[in-house]
Amino acid sequence: MTTEPVLSQQPIRSVPHSGLRFPAISLGLWQNFGASAASEDATALITTALDLGVFHLDLANNYGPPPGAAESFVGTLLRGSLRAHRDEMLLATKAGYRMWPGPYGEGGSRKYLLSSLDASLSRLGTDVVDIFYSHRYDPTTPLEETIGALATALAQGKAHYVGISSYSPQRTREALAIARDYGIPLSVHQSSYSLVNRWIEEPDAQGDSVLSLSNDHDFGVVAFSPLAQGLLTDKYLNHVPSDSRAALSSSFRPEYLSEENLRRVRELDSIAQELGLSLAQMAVAWILRDPRVSSVLVGARTPAQFRELLHATEAPVLTPDVLIRIDQWATD
Ligand code: NDP
Repeated sequence: MTTEPVLSQQPIRSVPHSGLRFPAISLGLWQNFGASAASEDATALITTALDLGVFHLDLANNYGPPPGAAESFVGTLLRGSLRAHRDEMLLATKAGYRMWPGPYGEGGSRKYLLSSLDASLSRLGTDVVDIFYSHRYDPTTPLEETIGALATALAQGKAHYVGISSYSPQRTREALAIARDYGIPLSVHQSSYSLVNRWIEEPDAQGDSVLSLSNDHDFGVVAFSPLAQGLLTDKYLNHVPSDSRAALSSSFRPEYLSEENLRRVRELDSIAQELGLSLAQMAVAWILRDPRVSSVLVGARTPAQFRELLHATEAPVLTPDVLIRIDQWATD
């Protein structure tokens, strides 16, 4: 990394009525930062991001693989080359998925969330994370307990902001009401969102979607898997590259590459080419068209992929005509 402070070359988006600010595009560390990644490659990706003004890194207790590896890796950098830059960075982590055996190794209990947060802080070598999320709704734990644990994290000074991830509109409404009772803001909702996964636009029986709730309740939406794990790029149009996620990771299910999906990807790719964009850039620009989205979390594997995606913020405005054409091919 350069010795300059982290620069704000990226457009910055603010959460309404909050001091919480995100770069329009952020780097996610779900995959590509674990034991199987070469540490020089992973370091290069993080330093490239920070040098280009992407000051937000998204983690979770279980990222790696194996679980914990991504946080430990970032912790090594924070104790070394990034030591002087911690305060410039926005570091997020989460707890919700399986981390250790037994009933307290996953879910939304107070014991699991707060123990996991302590373990994350220890791996990261920092006293406080900037955002701590409940990674998923846990139907076996009262929501009051889960949100209460987030309130404790804030009160203990172990998180500056808290949020929820992948909560339905109904659970989001409930979480917001409980947070209000605790007197804390739920600052951000992290959800999957892409051209082919538009659930956060869909209203529930009460007419609320995650996006409309964000408008009404002033929380930020951070969108994950904007490229549908790589489907929304041109890489799978002819074959499955041996170094791709489809070839290497069980998170990419073979059915994503159905003929029907590939046909739609080809059509979207031609629209992108007409706009002078790569499909990956158009997919990110399409999400950024909505000002309710605070940041798009991309999971780039190489600095070159990441640099390409950052140009999405310079994409031409997607006109109503183009959006209609995109909608023809981009559906769930
Ligand atoms: P993406 O949809 O961005 O997929 C990332 C993959 O897309 C990369 O591994 C790479 O695949 C491919 N890719 C990226 N850039 C390019 C490019 N320029 N050209 C071609 N291919 C490209 O996101 P993820 O699914 O990785 O999710 C992003 C982040 O969101 C995660 O790291 C995590 O922080 C967060 N997340 C949160 C979840 C939650 O429950 N809250 C769940 C999942 C993710 P390849 O390796 O094949 O080259």
